[in-house]
Amino acid sequence: MIDVTLESVSKRFSRAGDTAAVDDVDITIAAGEFFTLLGPSGCGKTTTLRMVAGFYFPTSGRIRFGDQDVTRRPPNKRDTGMVFQNYALFPHMSVAQNVAYGLKIRKVGRAESKRRVEEALSQVHLAGYGERRIDQLSGGQQQRVALARALVIRPRTLLLDEPLSNLDAKLREETRVEIRRIQREAGTTSLYVTHDQAEAMAMSDRIAVMESGRVRQIGAPQEIYHRPATSFVARFIGRSNVLSLPVLGAGPETVTVRLPDSSQVGVAAPADHGLATGGTALVSIRPEHIGLTSATEPGVVTGRVTELEFTGMSTNLLVDVAGEAVQVAAVDPPAGIAVGDQLGLRLPRERMWLVRP
Ligand code: ATP
Repeated sequence: MIDVTLESVSKRFSRAGDTAAVDDVDITIAAGEFFTLLGPSGCGKTTTLRMVAGFYFPTSGRIRFGDQDVTRRPPNKRDTGMVFQNYALFPHMSVAQNVAYGLKIRKVGRAESKRRVEEALSQVHLAGYGERRIDQLSGGQQQRVALARALVIRPRTLLLDEPLSNLDAKLREETRVEIRRIQREAGTTSLYVTHDQAEAMAMSDRIAVMESGRVRQIGAPQEIYHRPATSFVARFIGRSNVLSLPVLGAGPETVTVRLPDSSQVGVAAPADHGLATGGTALVSIRPEHIGLTSATEPGVVTGRVTELEFTGMSTNLLVDVAGEAVQVAAVDPPAGIAVGDQLGLRLPRERMWLVRP
């Protein structure tokens, strides 16, 4: 069942002719789904979320909740709960008063309100904190109060705008697990905004990757990671090498390219790749999928190590292959490897994937 639909939604903040902050976006979110808008600063994530919340109206396009058109409906008539980056709690009120706020506005009776506040606080693991003042809580606890305040009204849709960015790295990881648990238990359709790709991958059922106001790809985390649609998506999600390689032959599902060592390889490609012999293909391969071996081994691409960095989990290398800098992440690199060494690289064809520019 589709819960939220954005249909050709665009937003321009001033006169026509300016670049659109959000440009012709189509998104459908299923009931109960955790859907994330991911992209770099300024790509239009927050503007998109604010149109779903009703804080902005689109310049063109439609927004639907179920089969109801809400495009021009004010925020308080949309049945959404919102969690902000800065929590936006009332510092002079207690935790319970903060959580009860939305119920008071909706004129829910005292007894019912008390019961629901307690239920929401226990949902976010803050039972017994009702009488505390907001400034007596840690950042992570404050964010959970904000979540309880959004959930207590039992919104049809939960909207979260970078809710973890004020927390330190460890607390961020813990809280993202918590948010996902709470969302799953409540079954609330959720739209989440972040610029943090690891967060998006860990939390989401599906992700829309945005760049310059446009959606470049929508898919499950695994799909976006293993089959990025464009070179931007390949580089933004995790790390990736995007090699420009001459096309020697092009079929419907495979494109044959020439590697830097002059060997040929057939690379899996989406059906609409639009490439022809003589053109240039962009081929993505992840650093962790490249194998290291001796430069003298037959059938390997050779290169020279130009940079080397030990991170604990892996050793990251930059290898100069015929003028192209190739990133390699080796869990178990050859002993004594150093800058200047000649190496062989194994590029497994099943790990290569053709991307659009
Ligand atoms: P960030 O991660 O930095 O919050 P974002 O992806 O959420 O970025 P938006 O805040 O949606 O991006 O902004 C998209 C574009 O729209 C930017 O170029 C921004 O400058 C512009 N913009 C956003 N809000 C307004 C506004 N109220 N008036 C004019 N321009 C705006």
